Parts: sequence; structure tokens; C-alpha cells
Amino acid sequence: DKKYIATPIKTKEILQKYHFTFKKSLGQNFLIDVNVLKNIIGHAGIDKTTGTMEIGPGIGALTEQLAIHSDKVVAFEIDGRLLPILDDTLSDYDNIRIVHQDILKADVHDVIKENFQENQPIHIVANLPYYITTPILMKLLRERLPVESITVMIQKEVADRMAAQPNTKSYGSLTIAIQYYTEAKVVMNVPKTVFMPQPNVDSSILQLVTRSKPPVEVEDEDYFFTLVQASFAQRRKTLRNNLTSHFKGILDKDTINEQLEAIGIDGTRRGESLDMQEFSILANAFYKLQH
Ligand code: SAM
Repeated sequence: DKKYIATPIKTKEILQKYHFTFKKSLGQNFLIDVNVLKNIIGHAGIDKTTGTMEIGPGIGALTEQLAIHSDKVVAFEIDGRLLPILDDTLSDYDNIRIVHQDILKADVHDVIKENFQENQPIHIVANLPYYITTPILMKLLRERLPVESITVMIQKEVADRMAAQPNTKSYGSLTIAIQYYTEAKVVMNVPKTVFMPQPNVDSSILQLVTRSKPPVEVEDEDYFFTLVQASFAQRRKTLRNNLTSHFKGILDKDTINEQLEAIGIDGTRRGESLDMQEFSILANAFYKLQH
């Protein structure tokens, strides 16, 4: 595997050749372990017919593996200093397109239309910049891109929250937001030593498989997510108390209690004990009451 970019020796060589200095503010922690990359690839659901999209190719460690194992790679990179480097490190591959854009501002639907065949299965695979993990994933999911799965390296603590089950410390509004769109699974925990430079936090590989439709039916998505957030606003408070604060000046205590009773959800429970089905019942009931 010596010839791959993702080794400590090759990475150092490339960084020195271009006098590249890491920008912490851009979450630049490059992968230097081919086995970890192979693990990511192995969970990404890709083959030589698949299109892949990457966010943040860096010097191309993962991009190279995606080029080898899929039909075509489109990679979004914000840091212009990396463009000439990628031109060099990936010169052996003719199925890679680098898009010099901030993923949060990019029109991803458009990029997909431009770069992939109609109906070609597309998977997103990335070692994400950790300072914007959640905004990136929420953007990709909310825009309902035609992608089959998203397999990403992210900080362990966030991966745990995204894949959490009810009644655990990690379970919260982020869990519901992610699992509304996908089936989420942590496939591997990864030590800091596989990155250059090493980040301050532990990492995990998270696999999100896009659902063809949400697991619950909600009257209004924004209303649903807002109510879920309100239910977790103060984790130690009861559901009833969190809802009372949320509806202050709009619905009184008695009305809230009546509603909870009507749908058979005990107001003395904590938000963290409700599953997605129960949150949908809760949100739909209050939505109807208010509309
Ligand atoms: N994929 C490479 C690897 O695994 O070695 C680099 C991963 S590094 C954790 C994150 C990459 O995302 C960096 O190359 C960084 O410049 C890029 N990046 C940071 N913010 C970005 C943004 N808003 N849009 C696109 N790329 C971004």
C-alpha cells in the first residue's frame, strides 16, 4: 500500500513539497491510515457503477480510494491552496472532479445533475471538517438529495448522538433530526493517531442510509422539529414543564395537560424517554390544536 497518499511518509512528502501549513479553522486533519480508509470504503455501499461525492478532499487520501472503487468522484474543497496539490496527487486518475466551493453554500442538486448520469446511484463519503459536522449533514439531508447513503468520519460524541437510542445520555433532538431522514449506525471508533495533525477528540465512522420516506407522518416538519427541541430544552425537566415553558403566553398549563392526557403520554416523563413515534403523536396533536 506504500504507493497510496494515505501513509505518514507520503503525506509528509506532499506537505513538504508544497510548504503546506494546516488551517485549524478549516478542520484540516488528514487521514494517514489506509486501513481506516478501506473500512470507510467498505461501509459506503459503493462499486464501479456508483457515483460518489466527497466533502473536503484535503490532499486526496480518501478521494484516491473513491476514484479506485467507484465510477466517478466529485469533491467539494473550500481551500484554494489545495487545488494545485490535488492536481498533482490525483493526476493518475481521470474520474475525479474537484469543485472549489464551500459545501454549505454550494447548489449540490445542480452539481449532481451536471456530473452524474440520470438514475446513477450516488453515495456521499467524507472525513468531515469537525467544526461544521452538523450543519453539513443537516444541509445534505434537508435538501433531500438523491443519494443512497452518507458515510462519514466525525467526532465520536456527535456520531453517538446521531445514532442514539431513547433513554440514553446521547439521545436528543439531533438524534431525531438525523433518524427522521436516515437509518444511522456507528460502524467503527477510530483513534486520534490515524490523523495528521491529531485532533483533540476521538472519532467514529458513521453510516447514514437514506430512508425512502420518513418513519413517521408529521403534519408539519418545522413544527415537529421545533417541538422535539422544546421537549429537550432542559433535559432534567419533565416533558410537561418543558412544554409549558415553550408554549408560555400561547397555551396554558391545563390545556397542555389535557392534550397530553388525550394522546396518552404521561407529562411527568422526560423528553429523552419518548421515541420518534411518540414525538410525532405529540407534535401532530399540538399542531392540530393550534391550526
Ligand atoms: N479528506 C481528507 C482526508 O481525509 O485526509 C481531508 C479531511 S479534513 C478533516 C477536512 C477537509 O475539508 C479539509 O480539506 C478542509 O479544507 C475542507 N473543508 C473545510 N471546510 C469546508 C467547507 N465549508 N466546504 C468544503 N470543504 C471544506
